[in-house]
Amino acid sequence: MVSCRVVRTSGLEALRQPLEALYREFDYHARVGLDALQFPLRYPEPRDRELVALLTACLAYGRVDLFGRALDGALGAMGPSPAAFVAAFDPRRDARAFGEFRYRFNRPRDLAAFCVAARDLLARHGTLEKCFLAGDPDPAGPIGPPLERFVRGFLDADLREVFPRGRLSRGYRHLFPLPSTGGPCKRLHLFLRWMVRKDPPDFGLWTSVSPARLLIPVDTHVENMARAIGLTRRRSRTWKMAEEITGRLAAVDPADPVKFDFALCHTRMAGDCRDRRDATVCAPCGFKAVCRHWKGRRGR
Ligand code: SF4
Repeated sequence: MVSCRVVRTSGLEALRQPLEALYREFDYHARVGLDALQFPLRYPEPRDRELVALLTACLAYGRVDLFGRALDGALGAMGPSPAAFVAAFDPRRDARAFGEFRYRFNRPRDLAAFCVAARDLLARHGTLEKCFLAGDPDPAGPIGPPLERFVRGFLDADLREVFPRGRLSRGYRHLFPLPSTGGPCKRLHLFLRWMVRKDPPDFGLWTSVSPARLLIPVDTHVENMARAIGLTRRRSRTWKMAEEITGRLAAVDPADPVKFDFALCHTRMAGDCRDRRDATVCAPCGFKAVCRHWKGRRGR
């Protein structure tokens, strides 16, 4: 029993030290301009930033430079205050502003539907945070149920102004994945990380949700890093994988487990981890002691 505990504790310590060092020493400034976070950060007004953060996160599938070009065009069409644009949005008059928008599954009508749903939810709740909190009766509970209700608010909105037959487009549904389907819901967790965490690079506009409840937004970079350093052994990228990785990170920092997300993601994205043993690239990496690619090969 004792020896088991010693192994587990030393395993945790082997992870804690490099994780904390990575979080502490990472050059966030150098990478923010390459991250989807750059779009909401352009807007100093909280109501604009909150809305742009959600739209950005919804479109954040694929590479930042690709969806970023399309998003740039959409934000340009919304003018200096996207929140004011949405508050007064009339699809018959304003949807044409998105006429040029194309990004993979998404077309202009998906953005028009986003604006209609956001317009009505914001008119009812005032802010997206209050909209989220309206479906969050247990402030210490898991994040899945309130996130499901938040997403439902957009999927169940009256969108007949955009979809007269009442059938949502595939593109619009793709903007809002439901946690109950078991997918990782990376874009939703990314939005929550931006809104809830107070420390840079996140902007912590939401004050009523605890960072301890967040789950890590698992994309391909985070998945690869997590598998390399032993945060998960799961093969498929799912909600359960996000829970498992977050659980391991919570053993290091229970109050703020997803604080490591940005640095882990960008380490892999920048090529500072190739998810394989590479004497040159791996030389400065603090994770060698826990990395599956270096197991039994330390010091080589
Ligand atoms: S030791 Fe190499 S492969 Fe392992 S996490 Fe570090 S950089 Fe990646």
